[in-house]
Amino acid sequence: MAMSSSAISRASALRDLVYLDLSPDDIAIRDLAREIVDKEIAPIARRIDEDEEFPRTALHTLGSTGLIGLLVPEQYGGSGGTMLQYCLVLEEIASACGATAATYMTQVHGMLPLLQVGSETQKERWLPASALGDRVMSIALTEPSAGSDLASIRTRAKRVDGGYLINGSKIFITNGNESDIMSVFVRTSDERHKGMTILLVESSAPGLSFGKPLEKMGIRGSDTAEIFFSNVFVPDEQRIGQEGEGFKVVMGALGDARISTAAQACGLGRGAWARAYEYALRREQFGQRIFEFQAIQLRLMTMLSKVTSAQVLLYQVARMIDQGTRPEYSIESAMAKSYCSDLAMEVTTGCVDVLGGYGYTREYEVERFMRDAKVTQIYDGTNDVNRLVMARQLERRRLAGTETPSSSTA
Ligand SMILES: Cc1cc2nc3c(=O)[nH]c(=O)nc-3n(C[C@H](O)[C@H](O)[C@H](O)COP(=O)(O)OP(=O)(O)OC[C@H]3O[C@@H](n4cnc5c(N)ncnc54)[C@H](O)[C@@H]3O)c2cc1C
Repeated sequence: MAMSSSAISRASALRDLVYLDLSPDDIAIRDLAREIVDKEIAPIARRIDEDEEFPRTALHTLGSTGLIGLLVPEQYGGSGGTMLQYCLVLEEIASACGATAATYMTQVHGMLPLLQVGSETQKERWLPASALGDRVMSIALTEPSAGSDLASIRTRAKRVDGGYLINGSKIFITNGNESDIMSVFVRTSDERHKGMTILLVESSAPGLSFGKPLEKMGIRGSDTAEIFFSNVFVPDEQRIGQEGEGFKVVMGALGDARISTAAQACGLGRGAWARAYEYALRREQFGQRIFEFQAIQLRLMTMLSKVTSAQVLLYQVARMIDQGTRPEYSIESAMAKSYCSDLAMEVTTGCVDVLGGYGYTREYEVERFMRDAKVTQIYDGTNDVNRLVMARQLERRRLAGTETPSSSTA
Protein backbone atom coordinates (compact mmCIF):
# COMPACT_ATOMS: atom_id res chain seq x y z
CA MET A 1 0.00 0.00 0.00
CA ALA A 2 1.13 3.53 -0.67
CA MET A 3 0.45 6.13 1.97
CA SER A 4 -1.68 9.17 1.34
CA SER A 5 0.13 11.91 -0.55
CA SER A 6 -1.00 14.41 2.09
CA ALA A 7 1.29 12.62 4.53
CA ILE A 8 4.21 13.88 2.43
CA SER A 9 4.24 17.37 3.83
CA ARG A 10 6.71 20.09 4.61
CA ALA A 11 6.99 18.86 8.21
CA SER A 12 9.15 21.41 10.00
CA ALA A 13 11.22 18.67 11.65
CA LEU A 14 12.62 17.77 8.25
CA ARG A 15 13.91 21.22 7.51
CA ASP A 16 16.88 21.63 9.79
CA LEU A 17 18.34 18.16 10.04
CA VAL A 18 21.74 19.50 9.09
CA TYR A 19 23.25 22.39 11.05
CA LEU A 20 24.18 25.37 8.89
CA ASP A 21 25.60 28.36 10.72
CA LEU A 22 23.16 31.29 10.48
CA SER A 23 22.84 34.46 12.58
CA PRO A 24 19.66 35.18 14.62
CA ASP A 25 18.73 37.88 12.03
CA ASP A 26 19.12 35.40 9.17
CA ILE A 27 16.99 32.84 10.99
CA ALA A 28 14.28 35.44 11.69
CA ILE A 29 14.05 36.35 7.98
CA ARG A 30 14.07 32.70 6.94
CA ASP A 31 11.35 31.88 9.47
CA LEU A 32 9.19 34.72 8.17
CA ALA A 33 9.58 33.24 4.69
CA ARG A 34 8.66 29.78 6.05
CA GLU A 35 5.50 31.12 7.59
CA ILE A 36 4.41 32.68 4.28
CA VAL A 37 5.40 29.57 2.36
CA ASP A 38 3.38 27.33 4.69
CA LYS A 39 0.29 29.54 4.64
CA GLU A 40 0.19 30.83 1.09
CA ILE A 41 2.66 29.14 -1.23
CA ALA A 42 2.88 25.42 -0.42
CA PRO A 43 -0.92 24.88 -0.33
CA ILE A 44 -1.37 26.10 -3.92
CA ALA A 45 1.90 24.92 -5.47
CA ARG A 46 0.38 21.90 -7.18
CA ARG A 47 -2.61 23.87 -8.44
CA ILE A 48 -0.61 26.70 -9.96
CA ASP A 49 1.57 24.12 -11.72
CA GLU A 50 -1.44 22.34 -13.18
CA ASP A 51 -3.40 25.48 -14.07
CA GLU A 52 -0.37 27.54 -15.14
CA GLU A 53 -1.62 30.21 -12.75
CA PHE A 54 0.55 33.27 -12.01
CA PRO A 55 1.21 33.52 -8.22
CA ARG A 56 0.15 37.14 -7.88
CA THR A 57 -1.15 36.94 -4.30
CA ALA A 58 2.08 35.37 -3.08
CA LEU A 59 4.06 38.12 -4.81
CA HIS A 60 2.01 40.75 -2.95
CA THR A 61 2.56 39.04 0.39
CA LEU A 62 6.28 38.68 -0.23
CA GLY A 63 6.38 42.38 -1.11
CA SER A 64 4.30 43.69 1.77
CA THR A 65 6.42 41.76 4.29
CA GLY A 66 9.64 43.28 2.96
CA LEU A 67 10.97 40.07 1.42
CA ILE A 68 11.06 41.35 -2.17
CA GLY A 69 12.88 44.47 -1.05
CA LEU A 70 15.72 42.68 0.75
CA LEU A 71 18.33 43.91 -1.74
CA VAL A 72 16.75 47.39 -1.96
CA PRO A 73 18.02 50.10 0.43
CA GLU A 74 15.48 51.43 2.92
CA GLN A 75 15.47 54.93 1.40
CA TYR A 76 13.92 53.45 -1.76
CA GLY A 77 11.24 51.48 0.05
CA GLY A 78 13.27 48.31 0.53
CA SER A 79 14.12 46.44 3.71
CA GLY A 80 17.91 46.67 3.39
CA GLY A 81 18.76 43.00 3.96
CA THR A 82 21.67 40.93 2.73
CA MET A 83 22.34 38.64 -0.23
CA LEU A 84 22.45 35.68 2.16
CA GLN A 85 19.01 36.56 3.56
CA TYR A 86 17.64 36.92 0.04
CA CYS A 87 19.04 33.45 -0.81
CA LEU A 88 17.48 31.93 2.32
CA VAL A 89 14.06 33.35 1.38
CA LEU A 90 14.36 32.18 -2.21
CA GLU A 91 15.48 28.71 -1.13
CA GLU A 92 12.52 28.50 1.25
CA ILE A 93 10.04 29.46 -1.49
CA ALA A 94 11.59 26.99 -3.96
CA SER A 95 11.44 24.18 -1.39
CA ALA A 96 7.67 24.36 -1.90
CA CYS A 97 7.15 25.94 -5.33
CA GLY A 98 9.70 26.46 -8.08
CA ALA A 99 7.31 28.66 -10.09
CA THR A 100 6.74 31.14 -7.27
CA ALA A 101 10.51 31.18 -6.70
CA ALA A 102 11.05 32.07 -10.40
CA THR A 103 8.44 34.83 -10.19
CA TYR A 104 9.95 36.26 -6.99
CA MET A 105 13.55 36.22 -8.19
CA THR A 106 12.65 37.79 -11.54
CA GLN A 107 10.91 40.62 -9.69
CA VAL A 108 14.26 41.21 -7.99
CA HIS A 109 16.27 40.79 -11.22
CA GLY A 110 14.13 43.43 -12.92
CA MET A 111 15.30 45.94 -10.28
CA LEU A 112 19.02 45.08 -10.51
CA PRO A 113 19.99 47.51 -13.32
CA LEU A 114 18.22 50.33 -11.45
CA LEU A 115 20.00 49.40 -8.23
CA GLN A 116 23.35 49.26 -9.99
CA VAL A 117 23.36 52.37 -12.15
CA GLY A 118 19.97 54.09 -11.81
CA SER A 119 19.93 57.80 -10.89
CA GLU A 120 18.48 58.96 -7.57
CA THR A 121 15.38 60.22 -9.35
CA GLN A 122 14.88 56.90 -11.14
CA LYS A 123 15.37 54.89 -7.96
CA GLU A 124 12.90 57.06 -6.05
CA ARG A 125 10.37 56.82 -8.83
CA TRP A 126 10.50 53.13 -9.70
CA LEU A 127 11.87 51.10 -6.80
CA PRO A 128 9.33 51.52 -3.95
CA ALA A 129 6.31 50.03 -5.75
CA SER A 130 8.45 47.24 -7.20
CA ALA A 131 9.95 46.37 -3.80
CA LEU A 132 6.40 46.11 -2.46
CA GLY A 133 5.35 43.80 -5.29
CA ASP A 134 2.69 46.32 -6.35
CA ARG A 135 4.39 46.73 -9.71
CA VAL A 136 5.48 43.51 -11.45
CA MET A 137 8.94 43.65 -13.03
CA SER A 138 10.86 41.63 -15.58
CA ILE A 139 14.20 41.74 -17.32
CA ALA A 140 14.23 41.25 -21.08
CA LEU A 141 17.56 40.22 -22.56
CA THR A 142 17.05 37.07 -24.66
CA GLU A 143 15.94 37.20 -28.29
CA PRO A 144 14.96 34.46 -30.72
CA SER A 145 18.44 34.57 -32.27
CA ALA A 146 20.43 35.78 -29.24
CA GLY A 147 20.49 33.53 -26.17
CA SER A 148 23.94 32.55 -24.92
CA ASP A 149 25.42 35.10 -27.32
CA LEU A 150 23.75 38.15 -25.78
CA ALA A 151 26.08 40.55 -27.55
CA SER A 152 24.34 39.64 -30.81
CA ILE A 153 20.95 41.15 -29.86
CA ARG A 154 19.13 42.90 -32.71
CA THR A 155 16.37 44.79 -30.89
CA ARG A 156 17.28 48.32 -31.77
CA ALA A 157 16.59 51.62 -30.04
CA LYS A 158 16.90 54.55 -32.42
CA ARG A 159 17.53 58.03 -31.03
CA VAL A 160 14.61 60.42 -31.59
CA ASP A 161 13.67 63.75 -30.10
CA GLY A 162 13.38 63.30 -26.31
CA GLY A 163 14.09 59.57 -26.22
CA TYR A 164 14.25 56.34 -28.20
CA LEU A 165 12.08 54.28 -30.54
CA ILE A 166 12.43 50.51 -30.01
CA ASN A 167 11.87 47.87 -32.70
CA GLY A 168 12.49 44.16 -32.34
CA SER A 169 11.46 41.24 -30.14
CA LYS A 170 12.35 39.36 -26.97
CA ILE A 171 11.62 35.78 -25.97
CA PHE A 172 11.52 33.67 -22.78
CA ILE A 173 10.82 36.70 -20.60
CA THR A 174 9.77 35.58 -17.11
CA ASN A 175 6.89 37.67 -15.67
CA GLY A 176 6.67 39.30 -19.13
CA ASN A 177 2.92 39.13 -19.76
CA GLU A 178 2.22 40.16 -16.16
CA SER A 179 4.80 42.95 -16.03
CA ASP A 180 4.04 46.58 -15.38
CA ILE A 181 7.57 47.53 -16.21
CA MET A 182 10.58 45.81 -17.75
CA SER A 183 14.30 46.43 -17.98
CA VAL A 184 14.96 45.95 -21.69
CA PHE A 185 18.38 45.36 -23.22
CA VAL A 186 18.59 47.13 -26.58
CA ARG A 187 21.13 47.94 -29.27
CA THR A 188 21.88 51.64 -29.66
CA SER A 189 24.87 51.27 -32.00
CA ASP A 190 26.60 48.58 -34.08
CA GLU A 191 29.52 48.16 -31.70
CA ARG A 192 29.28 44.59 -30.42
CA HIS A 193 29.71 45.12 -26.67
CA LYS A 194 29.66 48.89 -26.36
CA GLY A 195 26.57 49.29 -28.53
CA MET A 196 24.07 48.22 -25.90
CA THR A 197 21.87 50.14 -23.49
CA ILE A 198 19.16 49.40 -20.92
CA LEU A 199 15.79 51.12 -21.14
CA LEU A 200 12.92 50.90 -18.68
CA VAL A 201 9.75 50.17 -20.65
CA GLU A 202 6.21 50.39 -19.31
CA SER A 203 3.93 47.59 -20.51
CA SER A 204 1.26 50.12 -21.37
CA ALA A 205 3.56 51.79 -23.93
CA PRO A 206 1.91 52.01 -27.38
CA GLY A 207 3.51 49.61 -29.90
CA LEU A 208 4.24 46.89 -27.33
CA SER A 209 2.53 43.53 -27.87
CA PHE A 210 2.77 40.02 -26.46
CA GLY A 211 2.69 36.53 -27.97
CA LYS A 212 0.85 33.59 -26.43
CA PRO A 213 2.44 32.64 -23.04
CA LEU A 214 5.00 29.88 -23.66
CA GLU A 215 3.97 26.40 -22.47
CA LYS A 216 6.71 24.82 -20.40
CA MET A 217 7.89 21.54 -18.87
CA GLY A 218 8.27 23.02 -15.39
CA ILE A 219 7.85 26.21 -13.33
CA ARG A 220 4.49 26.26 -15.08
CA GLY A 221 2.92 28.78 -12.70
CA SER A 222 5.54 31.33 -13.72
CA ASP A 223 4.79 33.39 -16.79
CA THR A 224 7.11 33.23 -19.81
CA ALA A 225 6.50 35.75 -22.56
CA GLU A 226 7.35 36.65 -26.09
CA ILE A 227 7.37 40.42 -26.52
CA PHE A 228 7.26 42.52 -29.69
CA PHE A 229 8.32 46.16 -30.00
CA SER A 230 7.01 48.22 -32.87
CA ASN A 231 8.13 51.87 -32.66
CA VAL A 232 7.83 51.83 -28.85
CA PHE A 233 8.77 55.27 -27.56
CA VAL A 234 10.84 55.45 -24.35
CA PRO A 235 11.75 58.87 -22.92
CA ASP A 236 15.36 59.73 -22.05
CA GLU A 237 14.49 59.70 -18.32
CA GLN A 238 13.92 55.95 -18.61
CA ARG A 239 17.42 55.10 -19.83
CA ILE A 240 19.20 53.22 -17.05
CA GLY A 241 22.87 54.19 -16.94
CA GLN A 242 24.75 55.61 -19.87
CA GLU A 243 24.18 54.80 -23.52
CA GLY A 244 26.59 51.96 -24.44
CA GLU A 245 26.91 50.80 -20.82
CA GLY A 246 24.25 48.09 -21.10
CA PHE A 247 26.45 45.05 -21.61
CA LYS A 248 28.56 45.81 -18.54
CA VAL A 249 25.44 46.35 -16.42
CA VAL A 250 23.82 43.15 -17.68
CA MET A 251 26.94 41.11 -16.92
CA GLY A 252 26.87 42.52 -13.37
CA ALA A 253 23.15 41.74 -13.01
CA LEU A 254 23.73 38.21 -14.31
CA GLY A 255 26.28 37.67 -11.53
CA ASP A 256 23.51 38.22 -8.99
CA ALA A 257 20.87 36.42 -11.05
CA ARG A 258 23.09 33.32 -11.02
CA ILE A 259 23.12 33.41 -7.23
CA SER A 260 19.31 33.46 -7.36
CA THR A 261 19.22 30.39 -9.59
CA ALA A 262 21.62 28.60 -7.25
CA ALA A 263 19.30 29.37 -4.31
CA GLN A 264 16.25 28.23 -6.25
CA ALA A 265 18.07 24.99 -7.12
CA CYS A 266 19.02 24.36 -3.46
CA GLY A 267 15.39 24.84 -2.44
CA LEU A 268 14.12 22.44 -5.09
CA GLY A 269 16.65 19.79 -4.07
CA ARG A 270 15.79 20.22 -0.40
CA GLY A 271 12.03 20.16 -1.00
CA ALA A 272 12.19 16.96 -3.04
CA TRP A 273 14.57 15.33 -0.55
CA ALA A 274 12.28 16.07 2.43
CA ARG A 275 9.38 14.44 0.62
CA ALA A 276 11.42 11.37 -0.36
CA TYR A 277 12.74 10.97 3.20
CA GLU A 278 9.31 11.20 4.73
CA TYR A 279 7.97 8.71 2.21
CA ALA A 280 10.79 6.26 2.95
CA LEU A 281 10.03 6.46 6.68
CA ARG A 282 6.42 5.37 6.09
CA ARG A 283 6.27 3.19 3.00
CA GLU A 284 6.48 -0.53 3.78
CA GLN A 285 7.66 -3.35 1.49
CA PHE A 286 8.76 -6.88 2.44
CA GLY A 287 7.30 -6.24 5.91
CA GLN A 288 9.43 -3.23 6.80
CA ARG A 289 9.78 0.49 6.14
CA ILE A 290 11.75 1.02 2.95
CA PHE A 291 14.04 3.33 4.98
CA GLU A 292 15.35 0.13 6.65
CA PHE A 293 16.83 -1.00 3.33
CA GLN A 294 20.46 0.02 3.20
CA ALA A 295 20.13 0.88 -0.50
CA ILE A 296 17.53 3.52 0.36
CA GLN A 297 19.58 4.85 3.29
CA LEU A 298 22.69 5.15 1.11
CA ARG A 299 20.74 6.88 -1.63
CA LEU A 300 19.06 9.33 0.76
CA MET A 301 22.23 10.18 2.70
CA THR A 302 24.24 10.71 -0.48
CA MET A 303 21.53 13.08 -1.73
CA LEU A 304 21.39 14.89 1.63
CA SER A 305 25.16 15.43 1.49
CA LYS A 306 24.85 16.80 -2.02
CA VAL A 307 22.07 19.24 -1.13
CA THR A 308 24.02 20.37 1.92
CA SER A 309 27.25 20.85 -0.05
CA ALA A 310 25.30 23.00 -2.53
CA GLN A 311 23.89 25.11 0.33
CA VAL A 312 27.35 25.53 1.89
CA LEU A 313 28.79 26.77 -1.41
CA LEU A 314 25.84 29.11 -1.98
CA TYR A 315 25.96 30.62 1.53
CA GLN A 316 29.71 31.08 1.29
CA VAL A 317 29.42 32.99 -2.00
CA ALA A 318 26.49 35.07 -0.68
CA ARG A 319 28.47 35.98 2.46
CA MET A 320 31.45 36.95 0.31
CA ILE A 321 29.21 39.28 -1.70
CA ASP A 322 27.75 40.76 1.50
CA GLN A 323 31.22 41.43 2.92
CA GLY A 324 32.07 43.34 -0.26
CA THR A 325 35.63 42.03 -0.26
CA ARG A 326 35.39 40.96 -3.90
CA PRO A 327 34.06 43.59 -6.27
CA GLU A 328 34.03 41.00 -9.05
CA TYR A 329 32.60 37.56 -8.37
CA SER A 330 31.68 36.11 -11.74
CA ILE A 331 33.62 32.85 -11.18
CA GLU A 332 32.01 32.26 -7.82
CA SER A 333 28.46 33.03 -8.93
CA ALA A 334 28.81 30.93 -12.12
CA MET A 335 30.23 28.08 -10.01
CA ALA A 336 27.37 28.25 -7.50
CA LYS A 337 24.78 28.41 -10.29
CA SER A 338 26.11 25.46 -12.30
CA TYR A 339 27.00 23.29 -9.28
CA CYS A 340 23.74 23.80 -7.35
CA SER A 341 21.54 23.34 -10.43
CA ASP A 342 23.31 20.15 -11.56
CA LEU A 343 22.87 18.76 -8.05
CA ALA A 344 19.22 19.81 -7.98
CA MET A 345 18.58 17.87 -11.18
CA GLU A 346 20.43 14.82 -9.88
CA VAL A 347 18.77 14.91 -6.45
CA THR A 348 15.21 15.53 -7.66
CA THR A 349 15.58 12.63 -10.14
CA GLY A 350 16.90 10.41 -7.34
CA CYS A 351 13.95 11.40 -5.15
CA VAL A 352 11.52 10.24 -7.82
CA ASP A 353 13.32 6.87 -7.69
CA VAL A 354 12.88 6.63 -3.90
CA LEU A 355 9.12 6.86 -4.37
CA GLY A 356 9.09 4.20 -7.10
CA GLY A 357 5.95 4.30 -9.24
CA TYR A 358 4.32 6.85 -6.93
CA GLY A 359 7.22 9.19 -7.65
CA TYR A 360 6.12 9.22 -11.27
CA THR A 361 2.60 10.35 -10.39
CA ARG A 362 1.56 13.96 -10.01
CA GLU A 363 -0.11 13.20 -6.70
CA TYR A 364 3.14 13.02 -4.74
CA GLU A 365 4.54 16.17 -6.35
CA VAL A 366 8.15 14.98 -6.41
CA GLU A 367 8.00 14.86 -10.20
CA ARG A 368 7.09 18.56 -10.13
CA PHE A 369 10.40 19.31 -8.40
CA MET A 370 12.23 17.29 -11.04
CA ARG A 371 10.52 19.19 -13.88
CA ASP A 372 11.15 22.52 -12.13
CA ALA A 373 14.81 21.71 -11.48
CA LYS A 374 15.58 21.26 -15.19
CA VAL A 375 15.27 24.95 -15.99
CA THR A 376 17.85 25.91 -13.35
CA GLN A 377 20.46 24.25 -15.59
CA ILE A 378 19.31 26.37 -18.54
CA TYR A 379 18.44 29.93 -17.55
CA ASP A 380 20.76 32.70 -16.41
CA GLY A 381 23.20 31.13 -18.85
CA THR A 382 23.27 27.40 -19.56
CA ASN A 383 25.58 25.51 -17.23
CA ASP A 384 28.11 24.95 -20.01
CA VAL A 385 28.15 28.67 -20.74
CA ASN A 386 28.60 29.35 -17.00
CA ARG A 387 31.59 27.00 -16.94
CA LEU A 388 33.02 28.85 -19.96
CA VAL A 389 32.55 32.15 -18.07
CA MET A 390 34.50 30.62 -15.18
CA ALA A 391 37.35 29.48 -17.44
CA ARG A 392 37.59 32.86 -19.17
CA GLN A 393 37.50 34.78 -15.92
CA LEU A 394 40.04 32.48 -14.27
CA GLU A 395 42.40 33.17 -17.14
CA ARG A 396 41.84 36.93 -16.67
CA ARG A 397 42.55 36.68 -12.95
CA ARG A 398 45.65 34.57 -13.61
CA LEU A 399 47.02 37.04 -16.13
CA ALA A 400 46.23 39.95 -13.82
CA GLY A 401 47.95 38.12 -10.95
CA THR A 402 44.82 38.07 -8.81
CA GLU A 403 44.02 34.39 -9.00
CA THR A 404 44.19 33.77 -5.25
CA PRO A 405 41.51 35.22 -2.97
CA SER A 406 44.13 36.47 -0.53
CA SER A 407 45.83 38.61 -3.16
CA SER A 408 42.60 40.34 -4.14
CA THR A 409 41.15 40.87 -0.69
CA ALA A 410 44.34 42.12 0.94
C1 LIG B 1 11.69 29.19 -18.43
C2 LIG B 1 12.69 30.19 -18.93
C3 LIG B 1 12.70 31.46 -18.40
C4 LIG B 1 13.61 32.42 -18.88
N1 LIG B 1 13.57 33.70 -18.37
C5 LIG B 1 14.31 34.67 -18.98
C6 LIG B 1 14.12 36.06 -18.60
O1 LIG B 1 13.37 36.40 -17.69
N2 LIG B 1 14.82 36.99 -19.30
C7 LIG B 1 15.69 36.67 -20.31
O2 LIG B 1 16.26 37.58 -20.89
N3 LIG B 1 15.88 35.37 -20.67
C8 LIG B 1 15.22 34.37 -20.03
N4 LIG B 1 15.39 33.05 -20.41
C9 LIG B 1 16.32 32.73 -21.47
C10 LIG B 1 17.54 31.94 -21.03
O3 LIG B 1 18.41 32.74 -20.27
C11 LIG B 1 18.17 31.33 -22.28
O4 LIG B 1 17.27 30.32 -22.74
C12 LIG B 1 19.54 30.75 -22.05
O5 LIG B 1 20.47 31.78 -21.77
C13 LIG B 1 20.05 29.95 -23.24
O6 LIG B 1 19.86 30.63 -24.45
P1 LIG B 1 19.15 29.87 -25.68
O7 LIG B 1 17.91 29.25 -25.17
O8 LIG B 1 19.04 30.80 -26.81
O9 LIG B 1 20.13 28.67 -26.03
P2 LIG B 1 21.46 28.69 -27.05
O10 LIG B 1 22.26 29.88 -26.72
O11 LIG B 1 20.90 28.59 -28.42
O12 LIG B 1 22.15 27.40 -26.59
C14 LIG B 1 21.80 26.10 -27.13
C15 LIG B 1 22.89 25.10 -26.68
O13 LIG B 1 24.17 25.52 -27.19
C16 LIG B 1 25.12 25.64 -26.13
N5 LIG B 1 26.03 26.76 -26.40
C17 LIG B 1 25.72 28.02 -26.80
N6 LIG B 1 26.82 28.76 -26.92
C18 LIG B 1 27.88 27.95 -26.60
C19 LIG B 1 29.28 28.13 -26.53
N7 LIG B 1 29.87 29.31 -26.79
N8 LIG B 1 30.05 27.05 -26.17
C20 LIG B 1 29.48 25.87 -25.86
N9 LIG B 1 28.14 25.64 -25.90
C21 LIG B 1 27.36 26.67 -26.27
C22 LIG B 1 24.28 25.89 -24.88
O14 LIG B 1 24.98 25.50 -23.69
C23 LIG B 1 23.05 25.03 -25.16
O15 LIG B 1 23.33 23.71 -24.79
C24 LIG B 1 14.54 32.07 -19.90
C25 LIG B 1 14.55 30.75 -20.39
C26 LIG B 1 13.63 29.83 -19.93
C27 LIG B 1 13.66 28.44 -20.51
